[in-house]
Amino acid sequence: MTQSKRTVLIAGNWKMNNDLPEGAKLASELVQALPEIPSGVEVLVCPPTVELKFVGCHGGILSSSIKLGAQNVHWEPSGAYTGETSVAMLQSVEVSYCIIGHSERREYFHETDEDQNKKAKALVAGGIVPVFCCGEPEEVREAGTYIDYVCAQVKAGLLGLELSSPNQLVVAYEPIWAIGTGKTATADDAQEVCAAVRVQLAELFGQEMADGIRVLYGGSAKPGNIAELVAKPDVDGALVGGASLNARDFASMVLKAGA
Ligand code: PEP
Repeated sequence: MTQSKRTVLIAGNWKMNNDLPEGAKLASELVQALPEIPSGVEVLVCPPTVELKFVGCHGGILSSSIKLGAQNVHWEPSGAYTGETSVAMLQSVEVSYCIIGHSERREYFHETDEDQNKKAKALVAGGIVPVFCCGEPEEVREAGTYIDYVCAQVKAGLLGLELSSPNQLVVAYEPIWAIGTGKTATADDAQEVCAAVRVQLAELFGQEMADGIRVLYGGSAKPGNIAELVAKPDVDGALVGGASLNARDFASMVLKAGA
């Protein structure tokens, strides 16, 4: 049983794109393009770490209704972790969400489910909402074992996490074969896996909590397919890469998600 009143989340992952002035320009274009966010929709942008403060302040995100998110975090509070960023550092620049477990970090930086588990716990303890990514590679999709694969990631990544509210966690199902490729999963494919993720969340956190946790789809989401995706009962929004780098496209997705 799913709950129909979850707030749709449209989240932009800017990845390693745009220098500081370009990031601030994109942010202010987005703020201008979205003077009002449709009711029932929440908007999030996740710029590169070095741009969080500037995009938040000079780009106008923090004085708008758009939320600010980070793309990565370290679970330790401080210490000799060259190049890393702590939860407290993200708090100090008013970040409210943080992407973890993105397939690019799992693949290029060899991050494991255990790493995601520590990150998720540190973020929730610090009052920042993890956007926990999961998703199967193409060979797993072709072998037909994708539901088991994704649910195992969710279980290992979130086991032992303590939640007092469903708003403390977001999960993003991102099939790797659809990320940045232009190959979108169909809305039915997205629904099938997002519903299975919710069953796994119910096993971890109980049915009531699972019914309130947002499960997003990610992978070549764009203005042309967002409405169909969010119309599915278990798809509560999208994590958007490429299309989030264009203010007009991203704003159009927000408006279509609220229509
Ligand atoms: C992503 O990397 O999170 C993503 C969904 O990218 P894209 O929208 O470009 O496929």
